[in-house]
Order: sequence, then C-alpha cells, then structure tokens
Amino acid sequence: EVKKNGKNGFQFYTAQLDSELYERIELEGYLRKALERDELVLYYQPQIRTEDSRMIGVEALIRWNHPDKGVLSPNVFIPLAEETGLIYEIGNWTLREACRQMKLWHASGGPLIPVSVNLSSQQFHQSNLVEQVKNALTETELDARYLELEITESMMMDASVSTGILNELTALGVKISLDDFGTGYSSLSYLKNFPIHKLKIDRSFVTDITESRSDQAIVATIISMAQNLKMEVIAEGIETKGQLDILMQNDCREIQGYYFSRPLPASEVEHDFFVPLRMHGTPSIL
Ligand code: C2E
Ligand code: MG
Ligand code: MG
Ligand code: MG
Repeated sequence: EVKKNGKNGFQFYTAQLDSELYERIELEGYLRKALERDELVLYYQPQIRTEDSRMIGVEALIRWNHPDKGVLSPNVFIPLAEETGLIYEIGNWTLREACRQMKLWHASGGPLIPVSVNLSSQQFHQSNLVEQVKNALTETELDARYLELEITESMMMDASVSTGILNELTALGVKISLDDFGTGYSSLSYLKNFPIHKLKIDRSFVTDITESRSDQAIVATIISMAQNLKMEVIAEGIETKGQLDILMQNDCREIQGYYFSRPLPASEVEHDFFVPLRMHGTPSIL
C-alpha cells in the first residue's frame, strides 16, 4: 500500500496529466479535420505608417474557429500542428489564403498593400517551400512584391541551409522579415550576409519603453542599425500613445499594435481601414 499522502499526491498528478493528455489527443483529432471543415481562418493586423497613420501592410495571423471552444489562438494549436506534422498542410493553406485575400483586395479596388505571413521552422526547412510559395503566387495571381515572409532568428542558425532558401525566396520577388527581432540568438553578421528586408522589433522591448532607459536604448539602436543597413524596421506590440511617442522620437516609421488595431477578420479590416472608394461604381467588395 502506498502511503496516504503520497498516494493522494500521485493520484492528483496523474489525474491532471490524464486530462491534459486527453485534451491534447482530442484537440489533435479535431485539428486534423479543421482544415477540411474550414475552421481555420486568417485575421489581419494592420501595419501602420506613423507619419500619417495609414495602413501600409497587414500581418496574417491564424485563428481556429473551434466548434466548441470558440476562437483559439495560434499559441494553443501551432505547437501541436508542429509536433504532429500538420503544420505543413496548415502552413501551405495559410500561404495561399493570405495571397488569395490580398489579390481579392487589390482586384476589387482595395489598397495595394503587402501581406506578411509567418513561417514555422519546419515549414522553412521543408524541401519544397520555395515551390509552395511560387505556387501560391501563381495560383492566386498575386504579384510577389506583395508577399512578405516572417522568419525568426533561430531559423537562420544553420547558415549554409538558410542562405540558400532565403536567396531562392528573394529571387521569386518576395521579401523577408525577421520577426521577434532581438529575442533570439542570431549574430549580427547574419544581417549583413542574409537577404533580409525588414526587422520587426519584438514587443518585449516596447512594453516598458516609457519607463525603461535600457529598452529605449535597445530600440533606438535597432532602428538606427536598420536604417544604416538600408533595411526597413517595424515595432510590434504598441498599445499606448506614450509608447508610440517614444518610438516616433526615435524615428520609427512603421508600427503594429493594439493601439491602432487588434488583428481583425478580413471584413473588419475593410470596414475600419479601407478609405471610402471610387466614384466610378467599380465593382467592389466593400
Ligand atoms: P507574432 O508573429 O510575433 O505575432 C504577433 C503577436 O502579437 C500576435 O499574436 C498578435 O495578435 C499579438 N499582438 C499584436 N499587437 C499586440 C499588442 O499591441 N499587444 C499584445 N499584447 N499583443 C499584440 P497571435 O496572433 O496570438 O500570434 C502569436 C504567434 O503565433 C505569432 O507571433 C506567430 O509566431 C504565431 N503565428 C500566428 N499565425 C501564424 C501562422 O499563420 N503560421 C505560423 N507558423 N505561426 C503563426
Ligand atoms: Mg509575426
Ligand atoms: Mg513577433
Ligand atoms: Mg512570434
């Protein structure tokens, strides 16, 4: 017989583990069907030019409209998709869906802005990534200059591999952004040697920027480095006017964050951010 306390502790632990495991297995089963059932959806977060508050791009952020659990965040199911290999199919769908939406906006008189799509590490290292990107562009007839791909610093660790992939992607005409910049392990020489068009300053440097001198210094340094390297730079996670003011004082020209807009379904981006259009009676999705 196990001692009483020990036994209770053990039971509690296994019960919790069982329910977590059960939840995972259940979620995995549903995730497999989610694509077929059209439950995955892309939200779009406007990227704003600080100078005139105009939307100059959108980042596509995936959501799962779960039949029982409501709208699930990618932090819940992307790791699961990565573990199960479903990420390949989901990633490919995301690419095409983002391109399709952009082409639709462009063709119906919406703003000629690019979409930025997050790549998972597995997707990045998948042998036919370049082909998938090419196919997504061809099938949707989206011009490559309107597609940006977001990678993270860790994906560039194996320099010999990533240089090749990035060069091929860039040759298609798409742009590369370095997401969550400053939080990974990349060496600065990557910035010199890789075809990277844009740095995305991670939200963790923005959160306390109004009080933290060191965060201010880091952000100012990233911005001026990007400018000197002739790269674009965008700050993520701006929630307040105070944060925006400091970023603008440091010559940050593009931002993304709840202060301007949360990620929105496509129809709400149209409603909130498309300038009232044309007098010519052009067919329009608005
Ligand atoms: P990320 O690419 O760094 O995206 C930024 C995240 O910050 C998004 O969370 C966005 O909703 C959130 N955010 C934006 N502005 C603010 C703000 O002002 N305050 C705060 N607190 N948060 C803000 P989300 O949509 O939950 O996505 C989380 C992460 O999941 C993304 O981080 C990205 O790494 C991943 N992800 C999202 N969509 C996809 C996708 O289609 N494919 C892959 N592979 N990963 C994705
Ligand atoms: Mg991103
Ligand atoms: Mg980010
Ligand atoms: Mg991220």
